[in-house]
Amino acid sequence: MQYITHYTKKRYITYFIITLIIFILPFIKINNNHFFLLDFINEKLNLFFISFDTQELYLMPFILMFLFIGIFFITTLAGRIWCAWSCPQTLFRVIYRDLIQTKLLKIRKNINNKQKEYPKNFIKKIFGILIFYMISLIAVSNFLWYFVPPEIFFNYLKNPQEHLLLVGILFFVSLFLTFDITWWAEKFCIYVCPYARIQSVMFDHNTMQVIYDEKRGGIIYKDKIKLYKKPPQGDCIGCEACVDICPTHIDIRKGMQLECINCLECADACSKIQNKFNRLSLIEWTSIEAMKTKSKVKFLRFKTIGYLIVLLIILVLLIITGSKKEKMLLNINRNSELYSIDNKNGKLEITNAYTFLFQNTDNQAHKYYFTLEEENGSLNTDIEIIRPKKAFKLEAGEKIKKIVVLKAKKNLNSHTQKDIIVPITIKAYAVDNDKIFVHRKSIFIYPKNQ
Ligand code: SF4
Ligand code: SF4
Repeated sequence: MQYITHYTKKRYITYFIITLIIFILPFIKINNNHFFLLDFINEKLNLFFISFDTQELYLMPFILMFLFIGIFFITTLAGRIWCAWSCPQTLFRVIYRDLIQTKLLKIRKNINNKQKEYPKNFIKKIFGILIFYMISLIAVSNFLWYFVPPEIFFNYLKNPQEHLLLVGILFFVSLFLTFDITWWAEKFCIYVCPYARIQSVMFDHNTMQVIYDEKRGGIIYKDKIKLYKKPPQGDCIGCEACVDICPTHIDIRKGMQLECINCLECADACSKIQNKFNRLSLIEWTSIEAMKTKSKVKFLRFKTIGYLIVLLIILVLLIITGSKKEKMLLNINRNSELYSIDNKNGKLEITNAYTFLFQNTDNQAHKYYFTLEEENGSLNTDIEIIRPKKAFKLEAGEKIKKIVVLKAKKNLNSHTQKDIIVPITIKAYAVDNDKIFVHRKSIFIYPKNQ
């Protein structure tokens, strides 16, 4: 038994762990924030249990860069490890083909033969599709929880007629998923998935792949043409167990092919055969270089170290940028009327009006107000706040627009015959927490000498 490999079993355990994490994660909240939530309705992003407003989406480029370079790194290192070990397409195919069709409904008779077509049992096939559609509904709901949190999602489902968009997406995407898994099957991996097309560009001689050991097994194919079922010399006995079990219907003994999803079921199948002769599987998960030199796969090399360094830099930038998150936001817009002049009892009053958009991006309610400061941080005594006069309360995540009117306390323009622009600094702050504040620059326009 010592030569038998258990990649398939390990893949199933990996699927189980990933599924559990993906399923449970939307229900976990810290400080009322999710691990990941892109909430289009409330225009907010939760990442690593921190809430960001959509105006703070400066984190997105870092996340996308991390994701793409991460994929390049993993592919260079371990080939299509994503395809067989984490991709939902492969996982759902295992559920549909191996669990529902083979184990449950016995439409397929042998889990080790994914090539053989069995007489069609129409009723059982429809039943199998229906079972999968139910699973699709759960899977798509799980996916949607990363956009509509579960607590709101289930509330919406209580009144489906009021939330037709969500219900429509749920049913349509589930239908599409069912069609994909039950009809497209591995054709999706071969013809549709863009990752399959680009991944081979990232491969090098040290990338882990599923490789048939021609030296030990013997040559079966030359220039992609099959010479023998069983080579005249070599350990391959031509049983074709590796071909029968392949979900993408290829013969790995032909060499690396675009269709191979790295599931390693062929390696497990061959290991069972070769074990009877006390030999190791002729199909290995290794690199071309490692197989040639009979050594271990070289993971640390110039390319992978380079990717690692870039990933590390992005991660550090992401953490630094994320930790500088402001707990309040303030946008200032000047009104179309630049200034107004009132003559009160022979005294000129110059006012400027603005629209301030405040947002509480903290997890708890706060009272907010603002002051005008000089460049050096001291209080601006030339301009006073006419409106609003009092601090106002904002609940966690709440936004409010405030019309702000500022008035010049004295003549700021006694010398020139043109309007002067006075730069001003606004410090907006939470009255109840001195750590929450932002500074914004704006201008106050004082008209030409009146
Ligand atoms: S060749 Fe092997 S590893 Fe590749 S898809 Fe087929 S069974 Fe999976
Ligand atoms: S399972 Fe192994 S021994 Fe059988 S045909 Fe494939 S490579 Fe040869």
